[in-house]
Amino acid sequence: MRQALLAARAAAARGEVPVGAVLVRDGQLIASGGNAPIAGNDPTAHAEIEVLRQAARALGNYRLEGCTLYVTLEPCAMCAGAMLNARLARVVFGARDPKTGAAGSVLDLFAQPALNHQTALAGGVLADACGALLQAFFKARRGGKASPLRQDAVRAPEGAFAALADREGALPSLPPAPASRFVSDLPTLAGLRLHYLDAGAARAPRTWLCLHDFALWSHQWRHWVPVFLAAGDRVIAPDLIGFGRSDKPKKEAAHHWLWHRRVLLELAQRLDLQGVIVAGQGWGGMLGLLLPMAAPARYQGCVMLDAGLPHADDALPDFSDAYATRVRQIARAAAPVGMDCATHAALQAPFPDAGHQAALRARQRLFPQAGDGDPQGAALLRQAHAFWRAQRRGRSLWLASGGNAAAARAFKATAQAPELLAASASGWLAESQEGAGALLPDAALAARALRFFT
Ligand SMILES: [Zn+2]
Repeated sequence: MRQALLAARAAAARGEVPVGAVLVRDGQLIASGGNAPIAGNDPTAHAEIEVLRQAARALGNYRLEGCTLYVTLEPCAMCAGAMLNARLARVVFGARDPKTGAAGSVLDLFAQPALNHQTALAGGVLADACGALLQAFFKARRGGKASPLRQDAVRAPEGAFAALADREGALPSLPPAPASRFVSDLPTLAGLRLHYLDAGAARAPRTWLCLHDFALWSHQWRHWVPVFLAAGDRVIAPDLIGFGRSDKPKKEAAHHWLWHRRVLLELAQRLDLQGVIVAGQGWGGMLGLLLPMAAPARYQGCVMLDAGLPHADDALPDFSDAYATRVRQIARAAAPVGMDCATHAALQAPFPDAGHQAALRARQRLFPQAGDGDPQGAALLRQAHAFWRAQRRGRSLWLASGGNAAAARAFKATAQAPELLAASASGWLAESQEGAGALLPDAALAARALRFFT
């Protein structure tokens, strides 16, 4: 049962309801598995089914006679049926399930004298530990939803995002809801609630920290997430404060690029991210390039889409102007020419009205400014350039789009492309790739990034 608990904890780490199971024969562990309906979009992917499948494959027999299955939660009717079909000798479960338990709580499929195969049953083994794991999981999930909203902030209605999922129809779906996480107790957040996607195994060797562009949100990585998950990697994609499903301070003065950087550093520390590859587009890329210098050991490289670090000592262009078009697109009632309705809906969802758009209006504060107005920012930019010049450990892929986007032009004007090319011997690679600046970067681009790091 302790082994089953380990499998349950692993399921919780993946955002699944924490139920784990193992199958044992003659004192030998044959199979071990956790609940996984969400990851596989499979309502039958209960831990017990997973373990029965694994064990039958391992033993080369669909009958599992002489085997004992341990599971942390009382089996449901589906699993109880499968266990009887497998002719298990014995089933041992942990916590009772008063809602769907089919081993005595709601019904008892193991006590049907009419069935010709009888499976021995024992319940309540390590019941407290098994139950506590489930309770902690559901409490954490409720806690995320219940976090109070600060008076000086707004939160886009969840309905806007639910409707979006409906409109997307055939598009590959976002990671399912439990991969959506909230955090509000990072020091810099001061009670604001930050939303982020967390998908894949917590201890995956690689974590892609995906940072959205200005006026976009974690949704923009929807085509990337499945590619990285399929490779066994973890993906963290935050909605920066003021964007997406994160809280939005109403005052423009509350928004500042250096503040976002601090939030991201605290998030990486809180989640103890390791082996991080920062993937960033435009504005998000700029913020991402400012992270590794604060904790170099966490990071192994970066993928930049139309992003670069401005040079503090150059005359900085007005980056915010480059995004004016996108802000106008958000305000439009209908999708602009060349943009499909689903993408337009995704662009608009987090910004239903002017009250939710302070970050859009504050865009001058979200980029480094020219001149002496921002000495702290200028110092940080210089420090970051020095860091990347000296950086020899990581690998970095720098992708620029064909140059049709105004944002791309603004960034390319100041991006350190010549430096990247010069340093290619140390693993830097810069290239131009069509589609790098697309609102929703596609799966082919993700595959390109994955190849570079594999
Ligand atoms: Zn079940």
